[in-house]
Amino acid sequence: MERTLSIIKPDGVSRNLIGDIVSRFEKAGLRVAAMKKIQLTEKTAGDFYGVHRERPFFKDLVSFMISGPVVVMALEGDNAIAKNRELMGATNPKEAAPGSIRADFAESIDANTVHGSDGPDTAAEEIAFFFRPDEIL
Ligand code: ATP
Ligand code: MG
Repeated sequence: MERTLSIIKPDGVSRNLIGDIVSRFEKAGLRVAAMKKIQLTEKTAGDFYGVHRERPFFKDLVSFMISGPVVVMALEGDNAIAKNRELMGATNPKEAAPGSIRADFAESIDANTVHGSDGPDTAAEEIAFFFRPDEIL
């Protein structure tokens, strides 16, 4: 049993895709252990994506992530980290596998609809970034 952090980014929330996306996770056997809709700020989005601070796309990434509310979730299940990444598809929607969330919904490498943790250490850190232990059920 593993946990991972998923975010439905502002483009997914504003286009009413929350249900479609969560349904894909549930159908793949992942369970929603925690969930909330929040508005990120420049500070929270910048800290969350802090590892990318020196990258040329950092400013655009933060602007996009604070352009509207997001839904953050802790997903739980066997192989949750890899399973979520597979359901998401590649970062650039043009390269995302057919049938993946990004292939079906994402409009660009910035507005790419979902975030998912990329390993066990980041998953634990990212879940703790958004949820207290008593909020994960
Ligand atoms: P995420 O962390 O959002 O799940 P990811 O793990 O697939 O996406 P990362 O390399 O962690 O990709 O990049 C974080 C985000 O930064 C991406 O989702 C994308 O929106 C943006 N990004 C990454 N690489 C580029 C790039 N070369 N040009 C523009 N934006 C980029
Ligand atoms: Mg990433």
